[in-house]
Amino acid sequence: SGVEVEMAPPDPILGITEAFKADGSADKLNLGVGAYRTEELAPYVLEVVKKAEAKMLEKGENKEYLPIDGLAAFKKATVELLLGADSPAVKEGRVATIQSLSGTGSLRVAGQFLSRFCSGRTLYISDPTWGNHKAIFTDAGVPWKTYRYFDPETVGLDEEGMMADLKAAPEGSVVLLHGCAHNPTGVDPTKEQWKQICDLCHERQLLPFFDVAYQGFATGSLEEDAFAPRLFVEEGHDVIVCQSYSKNLGLYAERIGALNIVASDKDSAARILSQLKKIARPMYSNPPVHGARIVTEVIGNKDMFDEWKGEMEMMSGRIMTVRGELYDHLTRMAPEKDWSFVKRQIGMFSYTGMTPDQVANMTGKHHIYMTKDGRISLAGLSSSKAEYLAAAMVDSVRN
Ligand code: PMP
Repeated sequence: SGVEVEMAPPDPILGITEAFKADGSADKLNLGVGAYRTEELAPYVLEVVKKAEAKMLEKGENKEYLPIDGLAAFKKATVELLLGADSPAVKEGRVATIQSLSGTGSLRVAGQFLSRFCSGRTLYISDPTWGNHKAIFTDAGVPWKTYRYFDPETVGLDEEGMMADLKAAPEGSVVLLHGCAHNPTGVDPTKEQWKQICDLCHERQLLPFFDVAYQGFATGSLEEDAFAPRLFVEEGHDVIVCQSYSKNLGLYAERIGALNIVASDKDSAARILSQLKKIARPMYSNPPVHGARIVTEVIGNKDMFDEWKGEMEMMSGRIMTVRGELYDHLTRMAPEKDWSFVKRQIGMFSYTGMTPDQVANMTGKHHIYMTKDGRISLAGLSSSKAEYLAAAMVDSVRN
């Protein structure tokens, strides 16, 4: 009656950090996990977060349970940040919002909702996608397939492949889209392409499902980065949107995010919310309060909100700067190759096209830790290490 199981493999992303910690080299560089680092490669707590926490401490708030669907003020703030305070969907009360455990937990609740209420409808996931998506939806019992997304020739969007695969999806299928800063490719559709995808979803009766993990982090603008989900909502789609405050507010460990389901009317949204609560209650009962209060303080106070935007611009700006520096070093060291993708890609990552053997060389010989799919997190790179990284990349792709 004992419990005998096999050893599980290390996590493809978080397992890298464990290997990095065990490496004694002074040159080592962790470009595996997507977490923002300063030029000194130290973790960064936003100034505005410290201010919000100081205010919270002053208020002396209690630690009572939150409602199952989270802090009411947070729910209002988060949906307005996503869709805009003037959004008709918000004003008409057509959005069911539940505070959940950051992006991952919100995706998991959404997955449970799909498997319970949309059974028989397949979820279409981009190829490639963030490593955890497939595991989340597999565990939630949602059947999924992939659609073409990335063209290695152009290091850009495979528009034809994507549209063809979505056109061929059966009516009622659900399509997972990255709201901005596609992970791992850093390749986003243009506004024109988003309009085409939106029209196609209408034509083929597909349910759009956005994963918004980088609002404000891609371009530095909260509005710009919400273009796609806002467009789909304006065009009258029912839409599922998961949000995360891990990156844009640096609240990784606070596990703060939300799941929003935009419905056709208020009654329907109320029924959806009741079912989301019924899913969350036996799963984790209710969400943690600390991060919800931070987000609410920051969004609700004009000065803090402006300060947050400044810090977001600073973070996304630093990433764009190291992109430029990496590109310059690469082009100087290996001018025969076109490295322009490094500057073109959006968000925290660069998808280098390196093969698993080349990645093994990066890690084994140069102590540079990255995911096997060839993705590097530029949020973990400093200006002073850009040349070292470029030399290692050139060595790895040449050998
Ligand atoms: N979706 C995508 C595309 C991500 O890149 C991430 C974080 N790497 C997440 C969701 C979820 O992160 P978290 O659970 O910390 O919000």
